[in-house]
Amino acid sequence: MRIHKAEVFFIFLMAFIALAGTFSFMAHNSIVAAATSGQPSFFPARSLSFLGTIFCGLAAVCGMFLVYPVVRRGLTEQGELQQLTERLSARSTNLEHAATTDALTGTFNRRYFDRALAEYLKAFRDVGKPVGMMILDLDHFKAINDTHGHDVGDDALRHVAACLLEFARYHDVVARYGGEEFAVLSPNTTERQLFALAERIRAAIAGLRIVHGDDHLRLTASIGIAVWDGSESCEDLYRRTDKQLYEAKRRGRDRVC
Ligand code: GH3
Ligand code: MG
Ligand code: MG
Repeated sequence: MRIHKAEVFFIFLMAFIALAGTFSFMAHNSIVAAATSGQPSFFPARSLSFLGTIFCGLAAVCGMFLVYPVVRRGLTEQGELQQLTERLSARSTNLEHAATTDALTGTFNRRYFDRALAEYLKAFRDVGKPVGMMILDLDHFKAINDTHGHDVGDDALRHVAACLLEFARYHDVVARYGGEEFAVLSPNTTERQLFALAERIRAAIAGLRIVHGDDHLRLTASIGIAVWDGSESCEDLYRRTDKQLYEAKRRGRDRVC
């Protein structure tokens, strides 16, 4: 067993304190014995108390210059280690956040959405509850970029994301799935409820007025929706919803299919 330097210092400190106490006690006994018998004690009280004082001083020096610095260093190192741990854990939280979030809009990213979709379908398979999916694509968004610039396009994407987050319920997963395409996963939602939610979102986006200088930019979105049939795979559900989005585009955009 390896004995740490601090333990050796501590043993010394304890030994000095024990010796100081022993000699002080013996000095006290020697004084009492001399006073009661009138005979000088075999161990003179003065020498005993001198030894007691010496060991007391050694204990103080040992405590002050050997034990205390080791304790102090240990506390400092512990504090530094704690700070480092806190920094690392904050960093890993940030990294996790960055790995699942879209930096432009603050919604989840595609990777997170796909994972959530797989987990929801797995969990809902036994429960027998519906899971709704929505894919939203902004109409003629390229023209907005071309006319007003990429920064205005980015601003429009942020407004749309805010709209989606405002209408989504707590358990819904809102993600930016691609450039100007968003996806919403809405567990425990019937087709009727999903359609109503999509309609509200569509109308809110159509009502947005994005101010850019003197221009008031307007947007519309096409939305495809589908409710999971209880057995299809994530890919099949996505494909079916995407087909509905395509249908919404084909029928003239700014609509829910
Ligand atoms: P449609 O109605 O058929 O969907 O037409 P669209 O113009 O929206 O579709 P298209 O796929 O032709 O263009 C999508 C555009 O989205 C092209 C690209 O410049 C733009 N876009 C993709 N990602 C971003 C982004 O992060 N920021 C901005 N500002 N624009 C983006
Ligand atoms: Mg588009
Ligand atoms: Mg698109």
